[in-house]
Amino acid sequence: MIIHSNKDFSKLCIHTQTTKPWTLEECIINFASAGVKGISIWRHLLEGKDLDKIKLLLDSNQMDVVSLVRGGFFPSVDPKKRLSAIEDNQLAIEQASALGAPLVVLVCGAEPKQSLESSRQQIKEGITALIPLAEKRKVKLAIEPLHPMYGAEKSAILTLGQANEMCELIDSPWVGIAIDVYHLWWDDQLKNEIIRCGKNKNILAFHICDWRVNTIDFLTDRGLMGEGCIDIKKIREWIEAAGFDGYNEVEVFSERLWSRDQKQYLKEIKKSYINYC
Ligand code: ZN
Repeated sequence: MIIHSNKDFSKLCIHTQTTKPWTLEECIINFASAGVKGISIWRHLLEGKDLDKIKLLLDSNQMDVVSLVRGGFFPSVDPKKRLSAIEDNQLAIEQASALGAPLVVLVCGAEPKQSLESSRQQIKEGITALIPLAEKRKVKLAIEPLHPMYGAEKSAILTLGQANEMCELIDSPWVGIAIDVYHLWWDDQLKNEIIRCGKNKNILAFHICDWRVNTIDFLTDRGLMGEGCIDIKKIREWIEAAGFDGYNEVEVFSERLWSRDQKQYLKEIKKSYINYC
């Protein structure tokens, strides 16, 4: 099997958190002038902003909003906190709708004071409560399974198998999955679970970066594609064979790369995208 690289930038999307030193406006303008077509917007950048103005800036730069990141964090032993999580996710759906984003990415959350099974039950209840608004606003919800190292408090959904099971239980066209190579590359069931996810038409997003050998931080030492041990092309091939034809979203959190000149770094992102994805 010959696996081809991406030949152009038509499916390149970059998360605003990848170039964290830039404001939202700088991300939009600099991505567009570099020929990047897609942007995934992190919600903290929307605080205090006029969303209509942001939408105008996006449109005038012909920038496609691929997703809004992130909602989720459903589980808690405190029912009031579970309710306020649902309200915050409803706000995320409204923000996505205002910006023309078709998708809200969910980092589902975990509560260390209870079992992962109980947390998954609360995640299911939380997502189910959001479906009427998601349908009304035509915004999909993408469960992002996280690497098991985040199981204590960031996510009780730790494999693509668990995310598939959750989607099959909820069984809504408004709920699917974001597949991130950083979280899932190690799983020997990944290919089978991608096929299962594709059959259910649940692959909503594809996030790329790399896993650095001898990584020094599990949150902010992600590698640029090609800097680590993940075979991104192979995973992309599986996802495309399963029917996905959306954007490849570069999502790199790295103190090392944030400290660099971001315009130079953007050039390197494009180079690494063509060579390793
Ligand atoms: Zn991701």
